[in-house]
Amino acid sequence: METGQIRREEDGTSAVSWTTESLRDWIFARPQELDGFRVCAEDDLGAHVQRGTSLLAYLHNAGINQQGWPESSGGSGGSAVDRAVLYDELTRAGLVLPEPVAALEVLGPALVRFAPQLASRHLPRLLSGEEIWCQGFSEPEAGSDLASVRTTATRRGDSWVLQGQKVWTSFGHLAHWCAVLARTGSRESRHRGLTLFWVDLSSPGVTVRPLQALTGDADFSEVFLDDVAVASDHIIGDIGGGWSVAMYLLQYERGMWAWQRQAILHQMLQIRVLGRELSAAQLAELGNAYALLASLRLKCAATIDRLAREEPLGPEVSVDKILLSQTERAVHDLCRSVDQAGFLLSDGADAHHLRSDWFYSRAASVYGGAVEVQKNILATRILGLPREAAS
Ligand SMILES: Cc1cc2nc3c(=O)[nH]c(=O)nc-3n(C[C@H](O)[C@H](O)[C@H](O)COP(=O)(O)OP(=O)(O)OC[C@H]3O[C@@H](n4cnc5c(N)ncnc54)[C@H](O)[C@@H]3O)c2cc1C
Repeated sequence: METGQIRREEDGTSAVSWTTESLRDWIFARPQELDGFRVCAEDDLGAHVQRGTSLLAYLHNAGINQQGWPESSGGSGGSAVDRAVLYDELTRAGLVLPEPVAALEVLGPALVRFAPQLASRHLPRLLSGEEIWCQGFSEPEAGSDLASVRTTATRRGDSWVLQGQKVWTSFGHLAHWCAVLARTGSRESRHRGLTLFWVDLSSPGVTVRPLQALTGDADFSEVFLDDVAVASDHIIGDIGGGWSVAMYLLQYERGMWAWQRQAILHQMLQIRVLGRELSAAQLAELGNAYALLASLRLKCAATIDRLAREEPLGPEVSVDKILLSQTERAVHDLCRSVDQAGFLLSDGADAHHLRSDWFYSRAASVYGGAVEVQKNILATRILGLPREAAS
């Protein structure tokens, strides 16, 4: 087995239409058809997202990206391992990893498990490039401390009415649906009084405002919910069960997201670094970046293997998140060092991407649970160290 290759087991119950080898052959047999889906330095954010949704439509038409999802949700069977193989092979071939698969991997497994009626309707639409989803958890006063969520949901007849504000909602302004964590219990109920709602962003009362990051790109938004009605069958999990759904989904956010990123980071080294003339210092940086990437890949492969077996991951998945943030920095620092003049001086589209990707690498220590919080989790729950005394 190739180093870091994830184990793919067929359970005999699901019809799997491709193997890693046949998928690779399928991709390489279509250089012209897939040419329009290659990573393109000229793309702005909108064009990049569009390229990804078009690739999703192409894959779905060919019956490729249904694999890895249950038949009851519009898939063709298989497991998280199949999805991981697909992401790996797309990036290996120089194609874009479609932007919507990030939210798909965070929210899709939770929809399948906790709201199968929503999964069967929406999963095929995302897989075919028709829908984009987003995650509405964070609020101005609730990020690391999600139990402080203030957005409320109040029952009114057969539906619920949502009131509040979300922030840092990735791709919120491009999305059609948002998983909104809202308070259905009292303020004091903390994590026990939360419920997860599936909200149509075209509903009356929703206002989405893009937020421009330091890079100049607007890849996240604020979402305002002003008396937004949501039907009772658009709840993911139980009323008051939002915290367990959020914890289930965070396993995928930390494990599968990190796998997607390692695939993109390998692609980035391929495009920006390999084949260039490197100084001795840069060669040392490259060695360090590869060592981190290899560790991240091996750790994530083991995590995905466990996700595919439906084993609860527990606190050790925080290691994936910490490794990811170190690897992001190492790879992007090297890319920057290889093209320092472009990074500092060029106005071209490629230099814009180089800068934008470098800034985004710093965000890895914040999104999906800040690194400091992950270190606390490992210290207390894995190493058994005492908690810091409250001041
Ligand atoms: C690029 C990006 C994309 C994002 N996308 C989404 C999205 O799609 N949906 C969504 O809901 N949210 C999203 N977020 C928000 C993200 O989840 C939060 O930023 C994160 O949870 C931290 O919350 P905060 O920003 O409120 O920081 P705070 O919670 O205020 O924390 C600030 C810092 O304080 C420290 N800290 C806080 N608590 C502790 C603690 N208990 N122990 C030790 N140190 C601590 C950490 O260093 C932390 O970085 C995104 C963020 C980024 C950067």
